[in-house]
Amino acid sequence: MCGIVGYIGKRDAYSIVIKGLKRLEYRGYDSAGIMLHDGKELKVSKTKGKVTDLEEVSQKDNNFFGSIGMGHTRWATHGVPNDVNSHPHLSNSGNLAIIHNGIIENYEPLKKELIKRGYVFHSDTDTEVLINLIEDVQKKENIKLGKAVQIALNQVVGAYAIAVFDKNKPDEIIVARLGSPLAIGIGDGEFFVASDASPFIEYTSNAIYLEDEEMAIVRLHKPIKVRKIKDDSLVDPYVQELKMNLEQIEKGGYDHFMMKEIYEQPNVIKDTYRGRLLANKGIIQMAGVEDNLEKFLNAERIIIVACGTSWHAGLVAEYIFEEFARIPVEVEYASEFRYRNPIINKKDVVVAISQSGETADTLAAIKLAKENGAFVFGVCNVVGSSISRETDAGAYTHAGPEIGVASTKAFTTQITVLTLIALRLAKAKGTMSNSDFHRYLLELEMIPEKVEEALETNEIAKKIANIYKDSPNCLYLGRGYNFPVALEGALKLKEISYIHAEGYPAAEMKHGPIALIDESMPVVVIAPKMGHYDKVVSNIQEIKSRSGKIIAVVTKGDTQVRDLADHVIEIPETSDALSPLLTTIPLQLLSYHIAVMRGCNVDQPRNLAKSVTVE
Ligand code: GLU
Repeated sequence: MCGIVGYIGKRDAYSIVIKGLKRLEYRGYDSAGIMLHDGKELKVSKTKGKVTDLEEVSQKDNNFFGSIGMGHTRWATHGVPNDVNSHPHLSNSGNLAIIHNGIIENYEPLKKELIKRGYVFHSDTDTEVLINLIEDVQKKENIKLGKAVQIALNQVVGAYAIAVFDKNKPDEIIVARLGSPLAIGIGDGEFFVASDASPFIEYTSNAIYLEDEEMAIVRLHKPIKVRKIKDDSLVDPYVQELKMNLEQIEKGGYDHFMMKEIYEQPNVIKDTYRGRLLANKGIIQMAGVEDNLEKFLNAERIIIVACGTSWHAGLVAEYIFEEFARIPVEVEYASEFRYRNPIINKKDVVVAISQSGETADTLAAIKLAKENGAFVFGVCNVVGSSISRETDAGAYTHAGPEIGVASTKAFTTQITVLTLIALRLAKAKGTMSNSDFHRYLLELEMIPEKVEEALETNEIAKKIANIYKDSPNCLYLGRGYNFPVALEGALKLKEISYIHAEGYPAAEMKHGPIALIDESMPVVVIAPKMGHYDKVVSNIQEIKSRSGKIIAVVTKGDTQVRDLADHVIEIPETSDALSPLLTTIPLQLLSYHIAVMRGCNVDQPRNLAKSVTVE
């Protein structure tokens, strides 16, 4: 994880790098650093903490400027977050500087060898080993930096996106990637390198995304040269035109990205089904599905692999696919799947879900599935991401950049895409009546409006947040389609407010968690008037009998639960299968307000990072 930025051109590199790092902070934010070259000298400033701390530290030096710069915002994997372990790291001679996203797995034997050869290490990072290895190769073989980087990388096991600078060649930056993303922005007489395009979006809309095992020499006034790291062969780079705009990656008047993104949901859900859901024609068209319809229809089962919130979206999809299309579905944590020798058949369709499209565990699960002959379909948000390239086909969510680390709009748009796929398959398989199919199309079309209405629960969510903000624990219960929503609600609360929260299928409560209930335990029950409503009402009775505090999410007009619950939050009516798109909204708002009231950093919760590019 971690974000890297580099600039080479005529502008003030300091402000470009700092601004870029702020945009990449979602990727990691435990320490930060910057390196500048002013034509003569190489200067480095780094510190534990956030990019604002780095600004403070670096601005103490009035001469801190240059038109070449590289910066890093870190999510530590090797060595605690402190000043010394922050990137950039310099080689022993002080000539080379590196910023790195990823893990060098074989850093220990390499380090031992380098120590034997007289190298001294100042940090505990794997990254410092890599830069000294590069220096060692460069010196031994007396070769250019690009070649030395290439030889060194061929000795390395692990994952990386790196940018390397040599103060004796101050017009170039060498970049390379394996497993972690890296984009090169091509401007007019200037170049940018970054973990994603957000640091350079206002300067250029032309970018090259390096593929795995590729490296590039980014040299001023020269075309970019991309090569395969393994065999040195030249690659014709594909220059992509970026569609993202600046407004999309700014807060737009909200206090936090998370709130902005919660409120974007009506629009992004619409964006996600636009052009795919044609209710008036009674069809769903999705190129990735259409082109591979036979594969889906012949699938003996669908295996969904994902992590975190995407895994919860996968669970919702399990219920939807099985109900609509009658295809057996298994939902797997990508991290478990990849390491447990799973049974994968050629007739399996593997659906990989990831907002960033860079999740390392999910990528590894995809590779495993492909090796075993399965057809792999990706559901990602970031266009051009690694997962979107690794998969055989896929469908993007059109959520726009999600900056808040706690996922919100990615979840609802993932569910939207997966629902569209399930409906398309149901239609093709004839597992759903025509009238039900049409009803779902119309209902799905009305979801954005209903999400809008669900967002009106903000005030009540805030009031409830104020009452329970100091609770040390919280339970979330739901059944059927809303069981994964309970898991997601609990995850949202714990990740941003640090309150211990657990999600359970409501009926499981009596097998253990009910022991936790007393008058101080808030229990959020998702109880829309559909599906297993009566059963959930019984579960609410059980909580009430034990004096638990009940916060119920109910369908508008519900009276039965209102009589039992301490607080009710009303959401509009929809069908059971689509209800997660609405029930999840007040839970997002509740977590948000509790976190704000507890003084937590909502957009950048501790210990987390958005794009989990390490295992
Ligand atoms: N492994 C490197 C470190 O611990 C980079 C981690 C990252 O990608 O954030 O510093």
